[in-house]
Amino acid sequence: MDEQTQALLRGLPKIDELLLILEKRNQDHPAPREVTRSVCRDVVDNLRRSVMRKEDKEGTVRLPMAEEVAAAVEKRIQMLHRRRLRRVINATGVILHTNLGRAPLCREAIDQLTAVSEGYSNLEFDLKRGERGIRYDHIRELLCLLSGVEDAMAVNNNAAAVFLALNTLAENKEVIVSRGELVEIGGEFRIPEIMEKSGARLREVGTTNRTRLVDYERAINPETGLILKVHSSNFKMIGFTEEASLEELVALGKKYQLPVMYDVGSGCFVDLAEYGLPSEPVIRDVAAAGVDVLTFSGDKMLGGPQAGIILGRRNLLEKIKKNPLNRALRIDKLTLAALESTLRIYLSPREAVDRLRILKALTEPISDVTRRARKLLAMLKRVLPSSFSLVLKSGESMVGGGALPGMTIPTMLLGVRIAGLSASRLEERLRQLEIPIIARVANDELLLDLRTIGEEELKIIRDELSSPAVSAKD
Ligand SMILES: *Cc1c(COP(=O)(O)O)cnc(C)c1O
Repeated sequence: MDEQTQALLRGLPKIDELLLILEKRNQDHPAPREVTRSVCRDVVDNLRRSVMRKEDKEGTVRLPMAEEVAAAVEKRIQMLHRRRLRRVINATGVILHTNLGRAPLCREAIDQLTAVSEGYSNLEFDLKRGERGIRYDHIRELLCLLSGVEDAMAVNNNAAAVFLALNTLAENKEVIVSRGELVEIGGEFRIPEIMEKSGARLREVGTTNRTRLVDYERAINPETGLILKVHSSNFKMIGFTEEASLEELVALGKKYQLPVMYDVGSGCFVDLAEYGLPSEPVIRDVAAAGVDVLTFSGDKMLGGPQAGIILGRRNLLEKIKKNPLNRALRIDKLTLAALESTLRIYLSPREAVDRLRILKALTEPISDVTRRARKLLAMLKRVLPSSFSLVLKSGESMVGGGALPGMTIPTMLLGVRIAGLSASRLEERLRQLEIPIIARVANDELLLDLRTIGEEELKIIRDELSSPAVSAKD
């Protein structure tokens, strides 16, 4: 270390000195002394590192005054008081966006989860009998009636549902799965790995593109505990392919007295084929095929909160509920409240398509999307300065979230340019807004996809885009 660097490091403000300055300042949001001290250390450590980094570079480094460092500490503490997990506007056109929290909840779900969390609740209390109740009872009847199964429960997410079912039904036993279904869903969910962790042994059969019923049958032996089918949610195979049908697998299971489980992935209660979309498995049909256990996510096509729903035969679900691991994976009351309200909407499927944003975005006619795009354009033209240029153009939205792979849906895009500002700078600025707008960029143009933008979000976009921070000079 050269002498200049050593001198600089000696000149770094001392923590106590900073604390003293901060005490004297009238802070808007004072933090506990230990928190302030840790932040001071962090800020000074960062300074030290930047001095060291610049050590062998030309030129001199200027150390900030203690007052300036204290101000930086104060700013960091102020940031701690800001919400980090926030609402954003999804203008990407990716309908099921896992990084953007998947399904937005419907009003009923939000109201129920607010009401339930405001006070105590009958989460595990039977109001009729005045004694201990079962948390699944709040969703059981709806799920059973909507899907035609004997019993239903829910856990933290679908990964947990698959894991818990495998552990309960096939620990130390073999689970037969087609090689074409050993999928990775993303975010570390891989069927072979979840299987290993569950204590079940994977018995792969068939080939990547073709697995026949006889492949399953040949693999059955006294060690077999379960036949598993996995919906290849996020990829599509075309060409020379073959798979055993659900009905065939169910018949095989019956013949050998083995339970058959189906990980449906993105469960859907309405048939999207009616809306011209390639059909995802409809839960009622899957259940009617006679599958013993089926699992799916609450926040994919269902349009509810993050949850893993398990449906099936009563005797098997009883076992799953009693598994001690279930305690570690169980669904909480807020999720349960939101899930209950979401499910109730499916009592009128037409309304589900209108009121659940995921289903609405998937099925909304392009004419409605275009009308909304024109409305936003008119609203923006009224308030934005002339440095903005705005154009409507048609494009494609994506389903995303491991459902309907490769599928795009026609949409209307609003292209936004600001004179003298690159599209990527603009995109970055929109991410820093009070209500961030997440957009895409193509050909140096920022695009807002109206298919994933709700009617009630138009005003937010107008107000946020008119903020001076958006069009400021660089
Ligand atoms: C999405 C998906 C999962 C994981 O579900 P999460 O709710 O994200 O835990 C598991 N299996 C399949 C087939 C999926 O599509």
